[in-house]
Amino acid sequence: MKIRSPIVSVLGHVDHGKTTLLDYIRGSTIADKEAGGITQHIGATEIPNDTIEDICGNFISKLAIKDLIPGLFFIDTPGHAAFTSLRKRGGALADLAVLIVDINDGFKPQTFEALNILKMYKTPFIVVANKIDMIFGWESHENASFKESFNQQAQSVKQELENKVYEIVGTLYKEGFQSERFDRVSDFASQISIIPISAKSGEGIIEVLAMLLGLAQEYLTEQLEIHEDAPAKGTVLEIKEETGLGMTIDAIIYDGVLRTNDELALMSSSNEVLTTNIRSILRPLPLEEMRDSKKKFKKVDEVVAAAGIKIAAPNLDDVVSGSPLRVVNEEEDVKEEILKEIEDITIDTEDEGILVKADTLGSLEAIVKLLKELNIPIRSADIGDVNRRDIINSSIALEEDDAHGAIIAFNVGVHPNSLEDLNKSDVRLFEGDVIYQIIEEYEEWIKQKEEAKKKAFYDAIVKPAKFMVLPKLIFRQSKPAIVGIESLSGTLKQGQKLVNKNGEIVGSIASMEDKGETLPDITRGQRVAMAIKDAIVGKHFDEGDELFVDVPEKHYKFIEREFKDKLTEDEFETLYEFLEIKRKQEPDWGRFGLFE
Ligand code: GDP
Repeated sequence: MKIRSPIVSVLGHVDHGKTTLLDYIRGSTIADKEAGGITQHIGATEIPNDTIEDICGNFISKLAIKDLIPGLFFIDTPGHAAFTSLRKRGGALADLAVLIVDINDGFKPQTFEALNILKMYKTPFIVVANKIDMIFGWESHENASFKESFNQQAQSVKQELENKVYEIVGTLYKEGFQSERFDRVSDFASQISIIPISAKSGEGIIEVLAMLLGLAQEYLTEQLEIHEDAPAKGTVLEIKEETGLGMTIDAIIYDGVLRTNDELALMSSSNEVLTTNIRSILRPLPLEEMRDSKKKFKKVDEVVAAAGIKIAAPNLDDVVSGSPLRVVNEEEDVKEEILKEIEDITIDTEDEGILVKADTLGSLEAIVKLLKELNIPIRSADIGDVNRRDIINSSIALEEDDAHGAIIAFNVGVHPNSLEDLNKSDVRLFEGDVIYQIIEEYEEWIKQKEEAKKKAFYDAIVKPAKFMVLPKLIFRQSKPAIVGIESLSGTLKQGQKLVNKNGEIVGSIASMEDKGETLPDITRGQRVAMAIKDAIVGKHFDEGDELFVDVPEKHYKFIEREFKDKLTEDEFETLYEFLEIKRKQEPDWGRFGLFE
C-alpha cells in the first residue's frame, strides 16, 4: 500500500481569485522546480511535501506534520464545473477543497453554489478569505505568513479584518457550518478553518499549504491509500485533438497503475461503454525543454496514481468529459461497472417529472441529487444538448402535468435544429451555469403556476354581494323586471342568480346599464338600471328591498375553507347575512359533513 497525494480543487465565485491563487502556488514553488520540486501533470500540479516544508519552514514544524503524505495534487482548472465533472463513483474526485471568497465582496451566488456542492459530496474544505491586501490601510508583506503580516498591521486594520472574517463565520453558520479563523480553531474535525490571504502578494499562502497538508494527514490517510499495481481507475477531464496525435483524452488517475497497451473502458456520449487500447501515455514536457523542441509532451510507459496524463488511442471521439476511466482486467467486469454507474445517474427515475440535461456525468449527478432532495420528480436525465426528442418527451410530460413541461439544462445548449421546435412548444427551458439559480428559477415558475391556478379558481367562485332596489325606480314589473339599484357590497356580475331576504329565488341578472352603457360587473356604491330575468316586482321583491347573490353551497364551502381572508370586510359581512338567510330555511346549509 502506498499513500498518494490528496487531490485538491479550488472553488469560488468568478473573480474572487481562484486562478491567481493557483498561479501563485505554482509560481511560489518554481525555484524548487529544478531541484525536482514541482511536478507538472496534465491538468494538475503536484507539490511535494519537501517543497512545502521548505516554503513553510518553521510554521510547519509547529504543526508537527510528518512525512506520511507525499504532497498536494492541485487540479489546475478551478471552479465547481471542474469539481463536479471530476467525480468518481460515490463522490467527488477531490479529496480536499479550497473555497475562495473575496473578503471584501463576501459570499456570492457561485460561492453558495460551491458550498452546497461541497456539502452534498461531503468534501472536507478550508475557506480562504482572499484579497486582504485590499483592506483599507493594509500593509503588504510579500510571501509572508498571515500571522507575521497581521501582527504588523495597525490596530484599526486588524479590527477591520476581524470584522470581515466574522461576517464569513456568520454566513457559514447560516449554511450549517461552524467556522473560525484558522489559528483559533480548536477542533479541525468540526470547525472549518478560515485563512485570510492575498493571492497577489502571497500573504497567508504558507498557512494554506500547511493546513491542507495537515488536514490530509490527520483525516484522509485511509482514503489516500492506493494499490500500486492494481488496474488504474480515473476520470476523464477533457477530450482534445492534438496535432500529430489525433484525438486524445486528458485524465486524472486516482488509483492503481496505467501502462501503455492497457485496454481502457470509457463512457460514450450515447451513454454506452466503449473500449480502446492505449497507444501512448503522455506527460507534459518541462518548460525548458518545451522551448527547445516543438513537442509539448513526453511519452512514458506507465504512471501510478495520483497522476494527470494525456492518452492517445484510437476511437476516442465519442468519449464524454467526466467519463469514468477503467483498465479492463480479468478480475473485474469493468464495463458492467461503468454501465451500472451511468445507469445510477441517468436511468429514467420516475414515470413522470421534468427532464434534466447536463454537460458531464458529474454535473448531472449533482443536479439529480439536488432535485431529489427537493422532491422534484425527474422523468429522465442525461448528457448532451437539448434535442428534438427531449422536446417531444417534455411536451408529452406537459400534457400529463403542466408543472412537468420543463427542461433543466446545465451548461448545455439547445441543438440548433431543435430551437424552432422548442419555441413552438409550451415546454419551458431553464438554462444556465449555476445549478442553484436554475433550480430557483424553476421553483419560482412552479410557484407562479400554482398561484395562477389558485387565482383562476378563486375568480370562478361566486362571491357574496348584495344590492338595494331603489325606491321610485321601478321601470318595468316583469319580463324582465327593470329596476334602479345601488350596489351595497361585493361585485355584481351579469348572469348571477339572486335571492331575497327570505331565501327565495328571485331570478338572475340579465344586464346592467348606466347612462346607456352596458356593464358586465359593478362594485359597491355604483348605481345602475338592472334587468332581472324571471323576476316579478311585487311578487318576489319590492322597492327598498335588499337582494343577495345566490352563492352555491359548494362555493360557500371553498370560501369558508380557503379564501376567507381574501374577502373584503363588507363581502365578509354579506357572506354571514346570506348564511343566516340560508340557514333559516335549511339549518345545515354550508356545514361540513364528517367526510369533507
Ligand atoms: P477567478 O475568476 O476566481 O479565477 O479570479 P482571478 O484569479 O482571475 O482574479 C480576478 C481578479 O482579481 C484579477 O484581476 C486578479 O488580479 C485579482 N486578484 C486576485 N487575487 C487578488 C488579491 O489577493 N489581491 C488583489 N488586490 N487582487 C487580486
